[in-house]
Amino acid sequence: MAEDNMPIFYPTIDVRGVCDITLELLGRLGVRALILDVDNTLTTHDNPVPSQGVREWLAKMRQAGIPMMIVSNNHYERVKPFAQLLGLPFVEDGRKPLSSGMSRAAQSMGVSPREIAVVGDQIFTDILGGNLFGAKTILVQPIELEDKPFFKCKRFLEKGVLRRYQRRKTR
Ligand SMILES: [Mg+2]
Repeated sequence: MAEDNMPIFYPTIDVRGVCDITLELLGRLGVRALILDVDNTLTTHDNPVPSQGVREWLAKMRQAGIPMMIVSNNHYERVKPFAQLLGLPFVEDGRKPLSSGMSRAAQSMGVSPREIAVVGDQIFTDILGGNLFGAKTILVQPIELEDKPFFKCKRFLEKGVLRRYQRRKTR
């Protein structure tokens, strides 16, 4: 069998949505802080209101003392009001898959990359970025599929990666 050269694109683990991320799961992964994506992870694109269950989930994580920070590739005007609504510190223009934004978040939380899970819906930004950064990565299913051509193309490419990831998982 050909060598699998794709693991840098594979999440550490995949879940349906953020609300499926439990303290037990974080414990198993050795994770004690979270970097959260916004669009299609905590809510739909450009939606100012968090998705159902997200506030309760955040409260549970907070209660357990899990530091959390938003790192979004979206711009300040989008990210700031949303982050404030949830009471989360944030990095806007995060440039995932580059490490700069995640690195700022890690520093401000005082946690090393390998103790962080990067949570997001996109393979080529959140997952690739988190893996390159040396963090654990948790892939969530996008809350709503995008209809812009650029996104459709990305999702198409993601599918190829995901197929291989799923195949490897079941091996
Ligand atoms: Mg996203």
